[in-house]
Amino acid sequence: MKEEMSYGRDYKIIPATSIGSGIGITVLPDIYCHTIQIVNISLVGNPDSQDFVLVDAGMPGSADSIIALTEERFGAGSRPKAIILTHGHFDHVGAIIELIEHWQVPVYAHELELPFLTGQQQYPAPDPTVEGGAVAKMSPFFPHEPINLGNRVEVLPADGTVPFMPDFRWIHTPGHAPGHVSFFRDLDKTLIAGDAFITVRQDSLYKVLTQEEGVNGPPRYLTTDWQAAWASVKTLQQLYPETAVTGHGLPMSGEALATGLEKLAAEFDRIAIPDYGKYVDKKLH
Ligand SMILES: [Zn+2]
Ligand SMILES: [Zn+2]
Repeated sequence: MKEEMSYGRDYKIIPATSIGSGIGITVLPDIYCHTIQIVNISLVGNPDSQDFVLVDAGMPGSADSIIALTEERFGAGSRPKAIILTHGHFDHVGAIIELIEHWQVPVYAHELELPFLTGQQQYPAPDPTVEGGAVAKMSPFFPHEPINLGNRVEVLPADGTVPFMPDFRWIHTPGHAPGHVSFFRDLDKTLIAGDAFITVRQDSLYKVLTQEEGVNGPPRYLTTDWQAAWASVKTLQQLYPETAVTGHGLPMSGEALATGLEKLAAEFDRIAIPDYGKYVDKKLH
């Protein structure tokens, strides 16, 4: 039996946007990244096949555009085999209920994200006092109450494989969220990093608007465990990704990615961890 699904009571359309909004980029022949306002979704799979998945599910109210761009790439009436989540923050599950209802496909997430996706637990409130600008100041307005996907959400396989993403493995990269995962393909060193690190300064409204490029730590106002977040960045850097698609900002590759990620892993305390904020451990400074 299918259970009722519901968004949190504080679910709402968020007016924030960026110049990247509505733009799609074919990062690799089988990786398409599209920006919904300020967040990225990815379609993973060859456009000439029907074997593809959607990674993350966009902003509130974006289901129609996600369906339209999916049909544009894979043909009318096409649907992914599954929706795979890097984590459950509102900007990554904003359209998920409409998408599940339209496509009737399963959702996969790390087991530690399940309480936030099944109505059991809410994420800690975003920290509007954290060092860093306008988006943080807006963050109390962001939904953080849990959505309930009922039994439509399943746990990622324990063996590290990713359903319907045959060459990828998932890697637990907590810190930004307890069950945050990244996806890595060893064959060509392609990384889908979610918010483990991002390629735009999310705490600066100006840089979100202009999508100025650079490797940065996870969005500050929602990150609650900075030591875990640092360890996760080190784990990803050690994979030496050739191409990275992140939850926010433009895809990056090659030398710019390698040097940016190396610097972030080495100087995470200086670059990523804010100087103040309610989730910042004073002992780090
Ligand atoms: Zn997030
Ligand atoms: Zn995000």
